[in-house]
Amino acid sequence: MIRSIATVSLGGTLAEKLTAISAAGFDGIEIFENDLLFFDGSAIDVRRVAADLGLRILLFQPFRDFESGPREKLARNLERAEKKFDLMEQLGADMMLVCSSIAPDSIDNDEIAASDLRQLGERAAQRGIRIAYEALAWGKNVSTWSHAWKIVQAANHPAVGLVVDSFHTLAKDDDYKGIANVPGDRIFFVQLADAPLLKFDLLSWSRHFRCFPAQGALPVMDFVHAVVDSGYSGPLSLEIFNDDFRAAPPRPTATDGMRSLMLIEEQLSADAAPKSPARMLLPPAAPECKGFEFIEFAVDADTRPRLAELFKALGFAEAGIHRSKDVTLFTQGDVHFVLNAEKDSFAHSYFLVHGPSVCALAFRVDDAQRAIERAIRYKAQTFRGRVGPNELVIPAARGLEGSLIYLVDRFGSGGTIYDVDFAPPANPAPATNCGLTGIDHVAQVMPRSALDGSLLFYRSVFGFEAEPLHEMIDPYGLIQSRVVESKNRTIRLPLNASVSPKTTSARFVSTYSGAGVHHIAIATKDIFATMRQMRENKLPLLEIPGGYYDNLAAIHDLPAEVIEDMRQLSILYDRTSSGEFFHAYSQAFDGRFFFEIVERRGEYTGFGAVNASVRLAAQVLTDRDPFALGQLDDMAI
Ligand code: MG
Ligand code: MG
Repeated sequence: MIRSIATVSLGGTLAEKLTAISAAGFDGIEIFENDLLFFDGSAIDVRRVAADLGLRILLFQPFRDFESGPREKLARNLERAEKKFDLMEQLGADMMLVCSSIAPDSIDNDEIAASDLRQLGERAAQRGIRIAYEALAWGKNVSTWSHAWKIVQAANHPAVGLVVDSFHTLAKDDDYKGIANVPGDRIFFVQLADAPLLKFDLLSWSRHFRCFPAQGALPVMDFVHAVVDSGYSGPLSLEIFNDDFRAAPPRPTATDGMRSLMLIEEQLSADAAPKSPARMLLPPAAPECKGFEFIEFAVDADTRPRLAELFKALGFAEAGIHRSKDVTLFTQGDVHFVLNAEKDSFAHSYFLVHGPSVCALAFRVDDAQRAIERAIRYKAQTFRGRVGPNELVIPAARGLEGSLIYLVDRFGSGGTIYDVDFAPPANPAPATNCGLTGIDHVAQVMPRSALDGSLLFYRSVFGFEAEPLHEMIDPYGLIQSRVVESKNRTIRLPLNASVSPKTTSARFVSTYSGAGVHHIAIATKDIFATMRQMRENKLPLLEIPGGYYDNLAAIHDLPAEVIEDMRQLSILYDRTSSGEFFHAYSQAFDGRFFFEIVERRGEYTGFGAVNASVRLAAQVLTDRDPFALGQLDDMAI
């Protein structure tokens, strides 16, 4: 497959875009005419820069409002095309995209459209150029691929063929299946874009909210299958109009684009017949995940005793001292927290940028080596820390904001990683177990612009699945949340992003100098006993306003004494037809991250999103960080 991307998909100058596209490993580009207007140099220079970077200019786009114009304008339109052909010759581009006319004065007549395209094709052919005709979903007369195909057939010229674009087809729910019946060599070019499901007019939806395949909600993969079934073997090209992408630096966006194309290729190979050569192209399989092995916190000498105190109040016991580093292990049930205060370490450099924070997550996987090979294939950066003699090397990929994701396949009855690197503490601090059993989920917060990229990172590098977008109301704005999770749901990561600068999520991002782990949810089998013990342990808990419980009594038939217990212990509640969810929160540590305690009963698979606004409001009132109080003052004025 030839991997291509339209320059319009990225931000930056044309030179920056081309460099980023090349670095991400693309074979070619569609060049958007506007990019040339702002380029400080000639078309020949662009051709040279692209060639130096190993990029082919596969398509020049767009040529607008050509077919079926008023007859007196035809000669001028053909002249206009010849000028573009001149430019294309300088660029070394041999295909021009013509999109269906949106001009109000264009004539609704297929024969005229076909005749115009044939004339254009004749002129193009003389110069070794081909014409690729695309139906815009909002074209005046031609707005579906099948209509464009009829006109291409009627034009009946070898230099005139079809462009199919997943957005234009899927956004208006047009039937894409027939694409499989178009002879593959009559499809000249294929453009791919996804989009979230939004209620917008087609034009605004397309211009501002397109995204890479796997980031949105359109059935792009089914569309690609239809394209492949036609026998098409040309480029698959990402053509994304998106305000966030254009505002972002081009390199990470280009990498995201490459990940999305590679995911499509992986799916195509996986769906190919068992003995097909396409199967050979499969990347190493996604890891089979078995939950979290540990969570690592970066601390300094000041924060370390305070965080250790908090762990103790949560019921964690000091379980190990690292043999060569200033690192302590805390354990409760199957939960492992690693406190890292080592000066010469990754954790320390992370601390310098972000302050006390979660600097690494460790995923349990079936095969760490295979998992890291897949991560490399999907362009993740890998990391190797300094290890002492006879210590384990745990492979890791760089995650959000340079945090790490360790991949661990040594756990359970075969021994643990701690057996090797940790010694039992001489005088372990006494702790009262609170009945915590395992990590339920780990929520991360990020700027809105990082959400789509993070989603693709987890989907491609770890083969995670994504749940649909969910929106939560914060007292100061809207928070968007998207859950990514391993296929068996043993690792679940809600990703939260805020559009408004004032929400708790956004404040976290600014306090924290970037994205990071925002809360860690830990499971218990008896939340009432757990919360009672935590109160006794003097854990600072998030107090829930009493009004919540009055309302709870009104909407759920819970026994009054249970509601009373929940009120005393600040436990929140949700229920579905298949299960129940009880959860409570600690106060945030230094306004940065907090802990959630959860008990699931029956088949409850959600995260208590219905209570998120109560939690967010309680946090604004409780967390005594100056910013929150400042916000309240704002409100008072
Ligand atoms: Mg297009
Ligand atoms: Mg949660």
